[in-house]
Amino acid sequence: MIAILKQSASDEAVGHIVSWIEKKGLKTDVSRGENETIIGLVGDTTKIDPFLLESMDVVERVQRVSEPFKRANRKFHPEDSVIDCGHGVKIGGDQFQVIAGPCSVEGENLIRIARRVKAAGATMLRGGAYKPRTSPYAYQGMGPAGLDLLCKASAELDMPIVTEIMDPRDVQVFLDKKIDVMQIGARNAQNFPLLKEVGKTKTPVLLKRGMSGTVDELLMAAEYIMSEGNDNVILCERGIRTFETRTRNTFDLNAVPVLHHLSHLPVVADPSHATGYTRYVEPMALAATACGANGLEIEVHDDPSHAWSDGAQALTPDQFDDTMRRIRAIREVVCQETVQE
Ligand code: PEP
Ligand code: MN
Repeated sequence: MIAILKQSASDEAVGHIVSWIEKKGLKTDVSRGENETIIGLVGDTTKIDPFLLESMDVVERVQRVSEPFKRANRKFHPEDSVIDCGHGVKIGGDQFQVIAGPCSVEGENLIRIARRVKAAGATMLRGGAYKPRTSPYAYQGMGPAGLDLLCKASAELDMPIVTEIMDPRDVQVFLDKKIDVMQIGARNAQNFPLLKEVGKTKTPVLLKRGMSGTVDELLMAAEYIMSEGNDNVILCERGIRTFETRTRNTFDLNAVPVLHHLSHLPVVADPSHATGYTRYVEPMALAATACGANGLEIEVHDDPSHAWSDGAQALTPDQFDDTMRRIRAIREVVCQETVQE
């Protein structure tokens, strides 16, 4: 349920309604936009008489929210959320960011790759220190030493880092090392204890869609994080498993406008994991940019044939330079159209 307040609603009046609702055992989520203020009600709304709420002076109208995701719902927060990822980098709304770097942190090559992606225009650095591998015998990541290399690169280049967390017991390590953005990978998209644990922090979370996850399941995973108090969730479409075998996954670009319609959270697209092959990464990066993604996550490696994971989908730094040029060209068109609307 949401209560849409009149434009004239003062802070005091908002506070009064919020405490009235909370006394009934519900939680509230207040979104103060330029044109309207919305109070979202979370919990057992049968305890609230909608007619009584609507009869209050400052309340314009009351609306039921039938979807099970509430805090992630655009009805709760009509304006796009913009998330501060640190180092002056914000994502969401018209703030578009490119996250790039190797699949895994492997060692000193990280800083070389990081310098190149930054020079090409990437604004955030990625690299996995904890790797979710299908085989327990495959490279599992460097662990804390990998996080240290990422932090070193972040300090040198003044750019936020995005790195995967797989275990709720590692949250404290990520906090101690001041990791800018915690990634939750496709395989953990419904790891509820992990979602809840990162929800207890304020660190932005890049939440990937599960391999067989529906859009609604992705939004419910975001809701798990937000229900614990962390609103800094960035959604990521990274391809889903279908009957098609010519690509690693099927890039569901429908999900980008669908997620924008349903939710206020920023949406990033990952053409690397979605396609699995270097040759398809650029065209799909451009398509994702054109359909309104707020950012891209792209794997880049300076020696893909020797990469410790996902070499087949990595762009070289030179290829990434070209791709970035074309992404910028598409962004110019998308932004012009938006301005003219
Ligand atoms: C990754 O980003 O390297 C990764 C493992 O991604 P996903 O969870 O989308 O497979
Ligand atoms: Mn990867």
